[in-house]
Amino acid sequence: MLETYNTYHPDLKEECGVCGVFAHRDSAHLVYLGLTSLQHRGQESAGIVSINGRMNRHTGMGLVFDVFKKEHFQNLRGHTSIGHVRYSTHGSSIIKNAQPLLVSTPYGQVAVGHNGNFTNADSVKKQLELGGAIYQTTSDTEIILHLIARSKKKNLPEAISHALKKVEGAYSLLFASDRDSQNKPGSMMIAVRDPHGFRPLVLGRLGSSWVVASETCAFDLIGAKTVREIEPGEMIVIENNQNFKSYRIAEKLPKTSLCIFEFIYFARPDSKIFGKSVYEVRREMGRQLARESPPPKGIDCVIAVPDSSVVAALGYAEQAHLPFEIGFIRSHYVGRTFIEPSKPMRDFRARIKYNPIRENLKGKKVVLIDDSIVRGTTSKKLIRMLRDAGIQEIHMRISSPPIVGSCFYGIDTPTKEELIASSHSVKDIQKFIGVDSLEYLTIPGMLKSAKGDAAGYCVSCFSGKYPTKIYQEKSAKK
Ligand code: AMP
Repeated sequence: MLETYNTYHPDLKEECGVCGVFAHRDSAHLVYLGLTSLQHRGQESAGIVSINGRMNRHTGMGLVFDVFKKEHFQNLRGHTSIGHVRYSTHGSSIIKNAQPLLVSTPYGQVAVGHNGNFTNADSVKKQLELGGAIYQTTSDTEIILHLIARSKKKNLPEAISHALKKVEGAYSLLFASDRDSQNKPGSMMIAVRDPHGFRPLVLGRLGSSWVVASETCAFDLIGAKTVREIEPGEMIVIENNQNFKSYRIAEKLPKTSLCIFEFIYFARPDSKIFGKSVYEVRREMGRQLARESPPPKGIDCVIAVPDSSVVAALGYAEQAHLPFEIGFIRSHYVGRTFIEPSKPMRDFRARIKYNPIRENLKGKKVVLIDDSIVRGTTSKKLIRMLRDAGIQEIHMRISSPPIVGSCFYGIDTPTKEELIASSHSVKDIQKFIGVDSLEYLTIPGMLKSAKGDAAGYCVSCFSGKYPTKIYQEKSAKK
């Protein structure tokens, strides 16, 4: 049942990554490196806040390497730093929304980086506004700072815990403050994961320093070791390098809702999240897809849409006893914006990113693996490029089930109407994108590959059933 609040349209499409380092003389540099490993989680803005007596912040639009120059680190001294990478809708692609946000509160200066989405942000925002809140950003993350500032608790951990009782949805949050849990000058880093556990969040150790990141690939780069995941509904407070304190912000739920799309597309294959290797799960999804939807006779090879589908394609090829071939080269130097040619070129947007290797494809019959079909427009263009390259037959296999619902928990999916599988049958989609056959992984097959049942994972984009109340449908991009 959808309830409509005719007020704000908060940014529902935030894909993000967070990284923090506590008690290291080079904390800002380490966070910077960690953020480069998390770049796939957000390419629109990046930022770091460091504590050095007072708190300093540098944020900018673009990739981590573009945002930070050597001179910025002069201002980011201190033993504790947190950082954030973000991607959001076009409408809110503005510098003031770059995180970590930094504000003054009754608990000292507080910085926060958020991965996820508060599903009730709209109504909380409205209530706060009626109480006098003035917003600096259009991001839903800011409401948590307003709730903290108003909580009237004795310290920041209690204030955060109190504030989080008022929000719903997905949040892996990383805070830093220039006061300790006695509310005295010092430094504190706090990591919290929502009770459903939608987004990953991991705790690590680097010598005697503490590290927190969205994914373990950030630890590998800086040489940190994984200690453990922050549990769904857990808050970890770090204020010395010996030990951390663990609190529950909510009762344990009978079932968690770990985002299965992290395994399918979003997380990096060299990361371990939700206790499992992304590579292993993704490869098993490919094998399972081959068991469920084997190739027709006479196939020459398996190819993938790079890069996100390569691991699943390897699994498919292994299970089907077919060679894996490189079908496309993907340019890694193309960002989200580019200058279009004045004379329209067919499939320009796909062609600038992907180019088929014609010599490898001419006259061949292939299985083409992609990890997902969202709107179907990229697939259609890629298929046309393959046909132009002289391919004979294309049998497309998708290593996830049809996406029938928008994500409200931090993955950038469009409105339900824009999702091709929400209104079209598999046969219709096959015809639309122009392949000789099309098959998807099943929901049970996907869950089996991730070694879990529906009780542990959020599969709402595939089932249309949401584990929390959804207040308003996603609105179209402006
Ligand atoms: P579409 O043309 O909308 O069907 O796009 C499908 C392609 O988008 C697939 O190759 C996916 O790997 C990729 N994809 C899936 N989810 C996302 C996402 N959240 N952000 C960017 N690309 C995605």
